[in-house]
Amino acid sequence: MRYKRLAQLYEDLSSTTKRLEKIDILSKFLDYLSKEDRDVMYLLLGDIYPEYDERRIGISNQLAIKAIAKATGTDPASVTKEWKQVGDLGQVAEKLTQTKSQSTLHSHIITIEKVLTNLRKLPELEGKGTVSKKIALITELLTSASPIEAKYLTRTLIGDLRIGLKEATVRDSMAKAFFKNKKESAPKIQKAIDRTNDLASVFDIVGKGKIKELEKLHLEVGKPIKAMLAQKVNNLKEGFKAVGSPCAVEYKYDGFRLIIHKQGKNFSLFTRSLENVTKQFPEVVEYLKKYVKGESYILDSEAVGFDSKTKEYQPFQNISQRIRRKYHIEKMQKTLPVEINIFDVLYYDGKSLLNEPFEKRTKLIKKIIKNHPYKIIHAKQIITSNEKRAKEFYDKALKDNQEGVMMKNLKAEYDPGRRVGHMIKIKPEEKDLDLVITGAEYGAGKRSGWMSSFILSCKGKNKGEYLEIGKMGTGINEKQTDGKVTFEQLSKMLTPLIIKEKGKSVTIKPKVVISVTYQEIQKSPNYNSGWALRFPRFTALRPDRHPEDIADLKEVVDDFKKQKRNWRYG
Ligand code: ATP
Repeated sequence: MRYKRLAQLYEDLSSTTKRLEKIDILSKFLDYLSKEDRDVMYLLLGDIYPEYDERRIGISNQLAIKAIAKATGTDPASVTKEWKQVGDLGQVAEKLTQTKSQSTLHSHIITIEKVLTNLRKLPELEGKGTVSKKIALITELLTSASPIEAKYLTRTLIGDLRIGLKEATVRDSMAKAFFKNKKESAPKIQKAIDRTNDLASVFDIVGKGKIKELEKLHLEVGKPIKAMLAQKVNNLKEGFKAVGSPCAVEYKYDGFRLIIHKQGKNFSLFTRSLENVTKQFPEVVEYLKKYVKGESYILDSEAVGFDSKTKEYQPFQNISQRIRRKYHIEKMQKTLPVEINIFDVLYYDGKSLLNEPFEKRTKLIKKIIKNHPYKIIHAKQIITSNEKRAKEFYDKALKDNQEGVMMKNLKAEYDPGRRVGHMIKIKPEEKDLDLVITGAEYGAGKRSGWMSSFILSCKGKNKGEYLEIGKMGTGINEKQTDGKVTFEQLSKMLTPLIIKEKGKSVTIKPKVVISVTYQEIQKSPNYNSGWALRFPRFTALRPDRHPEDIADLKEVVDDFKKQKRNWRYG
């Protein structure tokens, strides 16, 4: 198929914001799509491989600018200038290609196959000369492209297709294109997408109109799948109502989701965003080898950090750096150890358990895992219909530094990628405080160059005295959307107030007042107030407030006492 046909589809889809119209346009296109062109299914959402595959195009704006400049005979500075005016690099490529083609009048046919071949080479390139090789691959496509092709090629490269197409619309379009009963087929198609994370494999089957055969698409060990997510309720009573009675009540661990795959000697660990983190956690593979029975399995778990000396559980923020860290892994294992809490099993010894009831799956966990605290354990769980017992368990979870509890229907299936009503979470209510920023730390990766975590302080007893009460990194945006504050803006605001610098940490003059919500206050030796906020989240800048107007320590401690008295979670 020609790329031009796909570019025209993108154009048609972006001409309407109405979902039903998009479905109409896309279903007609899918009806016409041949099985040889199945990989177009990936391009529809801006990908070159199935979602479970980690390889991404990953081209920066700067590199795309260079390629556009080369392909259109413009200099990079003019492309950048144009981009700043228009705000969309795709449109810039379209315009420049138009100008060029008027003078040269030549464009070649680009096939989907050629586009995929070149784009798929991009993530494979490494080492010396990578940049120029990448530019050559992109330029080859752009020089042959018509203006509209150039627009969508560019947008695909930088991962910003701007056609307003979501997976759910693709699902409904497949249902409309291939089945009479759209309402009945759409959920089945969704299930197949959730199990495989591979739109083209699903298309292979539905394209032939064979809805029954979708059931043949199974989980595959080693291919990451999306985690099942929970809905939220306010208290245990509502919880029992939602999931039924008796139900399983489990600790809601404050760590990060880890989905574990084993096939023979091969182990893979995936995060919730399908990232493979096996290399970062070699000790977990050791625990699995020693303490979990089974030739092949997929387990769902939460990895929680604990203090190697005191054995106290640590909030997620403390271990989050282990997920990204590729070096000094052995040292990190010792300083930031994790315990794996297994709470579900989705596949065992060659068989998918997704359709088995939770009570059966949870029994199997107990059979196959030998509990080794601070290494690997079954998530703490009770099965009860008694609210008082559930409340005691909830209190214990909070005392053990965990976030709250999960409640689970005993008969429910496992629905990958869905936020379901048969698994719910209960956490303490959030409260507000106004505080001042008195320190910060510069971030790494996507946040490098910006301050990315902020020390918060309340007022002390004496005038002008501020006491540290926690560290905050959530609630702030990476990119500008909906007028929310970004790391960049906050960093710019705080930089002139830096008093002292040490490594990545800075001390900041108490001037910038912000509102935060938090879940709980705890005694803590880590901050000079003697207290720490749990889960502080930025909600707003308070330019209207002076540091003198913020909460004082007494207010915070009063809140702690109130919190002890008034918890209404049961
Ligand atoms: P939150 O910020 O509340 O963790 P979330 O959007 O990350 O929400 P949810 O599915 O809404 O995720 O909440 C459940 C999360 O809690 C799971 O994703 C998982 O990481 C974690 N968790 C901790 N303990 C358990 C448990 N026993 N069973 C299921 N999930 C658990």
